[in-house]
Amino acid sequence: MKMHVLDLGTLKADRNLLVQKSAFATRSSPTPPCDFHEFPVSAYLIEHERGRILYDTGCHPDAMGPKGRWPAQFQDEVPFFGGAECCLPQRLRAMGLGPDDIDDVVLSHMHNDHAGCVEFFGKSRLIVHEDEFAACLKAYALGRRMDSYIWDDTDHWIRQNLNWRLVERDEPDLHLTDRVTVLNFGPGHAFGMLGLHVHLPQTGHVLLVSDAVYTAENYGPPERYPGVVYDTVGWKRTATRIRRLAEELGAQVWFGHDAKQFGTLIKATQGCYR
Ligand SMILES: [Zn+2]
Repeated sequence: MKMHVLDLGTLKADRNLLVQKSAFATRSSPTPPCDFHEFPVSAYLIEHERGRILYDTGCHPDAMGPKGRWPAQFQDEVPFFGGAECCLPQRLRAMGLGPDDIDDVVLSHMHNDHAGCVEFFGKSRLIVHEDEFAACLKAYALGRRMDSYIWDDTDHWIRQNLNWRLVERDEPDLHLTDRVTVLNFGPGHAFGMLGLHVHLPQTGHVLLVSDAVYTAENYGPPERYPGVVYDTVGWKRTATRIRRLAEELGAQVWFGHDAKQFGTLIKATQGCYR
């Protein structure tokens, strides 16, 4: 069994989007500097004896540009850097794989930088939280363009006969193998978040938490809210759950968008975790 870390390019955004109140005006500092911060986009591929599991899919290769799928204002606020060579289909190709080789795709949630390549996985089982699925379809049906659920991405997969496996709100964690478990985090950063607990024979326990906790700065302690948060109570509950689980298992916690931590990880195809 092994796990590959896929580098799917970077995004840039005001740091307040990652950590709430990063720049916070006070009487003594009335004009704090803003920071257009760069942070990684990632996915994780687990190969085990009975198949392959992918956690997240990154941005779509055609996200950016004048004819890009993301609305112009969205491209300006949270631009994606990397281009097609950094996107998932190309990263899989570099490993000698294609989307059809993936058995299970677990979506941490359905925002632009995590569910951008859903349409490529016509043969996989797509696992997502039911509340997240509903939120994405609601944004689509209402024609909301300036939304983290990219209208054009949904429009590309919605007419396909994809194999969805929805995780219900009160469903317990889902064991994909005896060493890989989907963690049902519920609402927090988005409407329904899923994490992945991977128990590697040599590396040990790793909790892939995606945007349930963006960065080490959010994790703390003290915990700091992200700038994008649907349910603050749910976010805190999830952060506490992750901390307790990590302590109990002696697990590493790999955050969703931590540039510093991501820089220390071994990326495909340089190596992998066993
Ligand atoms: Zn994200």
